[in-house]
Amino acid sequence: MAEGFSFFQKVNTDFDKAAQFTDYPHGLLEQIKICNSSCHFTFPIKRDDGTIQTIHGWRAEHSHHSLPTKGGIRYSTLVNEDEIMALAALMTYKCAIVDVPFGGAKGGIQLDRREYSESELERITRRYTYELIQKNYIGPGIDVPAPDFGTSETEMTWILDTYITMAPDKLNAMACVTGKPIEQNGIHGRKGATGRGVVFGLEEACSITEDMKPLGLSPGLHGKSVVIQGFGNVGYHAAKFLMEGDARVIGILEQNGGIYNPQGFDVEKVAMHRAEAGSICGYPGAKLIENPNDGLELECDILVPAALENQLTAKNAPRIKAAIVAEAANGPTTPAADEILQERGIMIIPDTYLNAGGVTVSYFEWLRNLSHVQLGRLGKRFEDTTQHAMLRAVEKATGYEFSDDERQLIHGADEEDLVNSGLQDAMIRAYQELRETRMQHRSKNDDVDCRTAAFINAIHRIAKSYMQLGIFP
Ligand code: GLU
Repeated sequence: MAEGFSFFQKVNTDFDKAAQFTDYPHGLLEQIKICNSSCHFTFPIKRDDGTIQTIHGWRAEHSHHSLPTKGGIRYSTLVNEDEIMALAALMTYKCAIVDVPFGGAKGGIQLDRREYSESELERITRRYTYELIQKNYIGPGIDVPAPDFGTSETEMTWILDTYITMAPDKLNAMACVTGKPIEQNGIHGRKGATGRGVVFGLEEACSITEDMKPLGLSPGLHGKSVVIQGFGNVGYHAAKFLMEGDARVIGILEQNGGIYNPQGFDVEKVAMHRAEAGSICGYPGAKLIENPNDGLELECDILVPAALENQLTAKNAPRIKAAIVAEAANGPTTPAADEILQERGIMIIPDTYLNAGGVTVSYFEWLRNLSHVQLGRLGKRFEDTTQHAMLRAVEKATGYEFSDDERQLIHGADEEDLVNSGLQDAMIRAYQELRETRMQHRSKNDDVDCRTAAFINAIHRIAKSYMQLGIFP
């Protein structure tokens, strides 16, 4: 509970704010908003020391307007039914915003993974999957999990193996989970997809001169100072791609402390240091931020919360100095903080849009699994050959000879190229739609912020699906 709102209530408050700008029947809006089904299950596991422990797990399927439902599985001590329902709802809106044809779902197990051995985690994950199978909460056309906070491709492998063992239809069973390792029918580019999507989204938002002007910023990512909270899969990749986009990552915050260097970090080197030393703290040449919450208040152009929900609150919002808050995490801003930040003229790029890159590439992985062919496999050689033939024709006609470097730029698209291009397109398109909605409402004198605009677009897309189903003629 943050500032009087449960997480799911917060999501619904944002929904209601947007719903008033639409004229759908009340019943349809209620149907979109409600969580269609959720399931809490408990099971015992035997710890390595022989003791028995009860494990609590959940899976919520927020919306069945489009199937399968989709969303990650998180391992965290904060997991409870309200959190899982809120996150499942965010998945519904997220998919609609980037036009990925899934309903939203989310699952979780209430535990701190650091307290369990690898083999305990494997037993827990396999048993959790078994429960999902028993309750019909998993399947390529039913509900498809993915990694989330506290889980990775390792857990996805265990889920896949458990599911395939029990699946009646082995042909498409691979598509029961996404975020799998490449060797197990995962897709190139999935691991970094959420972080990459965050950067594609930021690039697009920052490219619009007239939107940057009131923030006192020049267009483009180049030279912008960034503070990142969270250096897990999402935070690390967002930081890495921001650095590659010429931004300056000046602050990195983790649970046990943060580091600051106004010159900007080499993100790969920080990650290497953490792998060796066990923590980012103590990174050479960096100033230590003992209380990572203080780091949120650093002077910077872009603040990227990439950890958990409820990080920006009524308490710290008045002191946030960033011009842009880029929500890589799900639900990092409380409603009270949202209001304060908006009032202070800080631009919030909302989670429902900005972190949708993960599920977008999950969609590509799912499609690849169902089609049983690697993206680009059929066309790559053909593109390669025709493009090189074209180069030779240009050389012949002009007498100019291309250098080896220039020649290397030409190649048929492989899987990662296609994944990144599909992701970039989804992020750019969704941002343009979001901005168009804002502009339309502004011309009617409605002050619609980015989050509300994103929700309005989601509501339209979901309502359309329901209408196509003939449920609401
Ligand atoms: N857990 C990620 C999210 O919150 C990805 C979900 C998925 O790929 O299904 O968006």
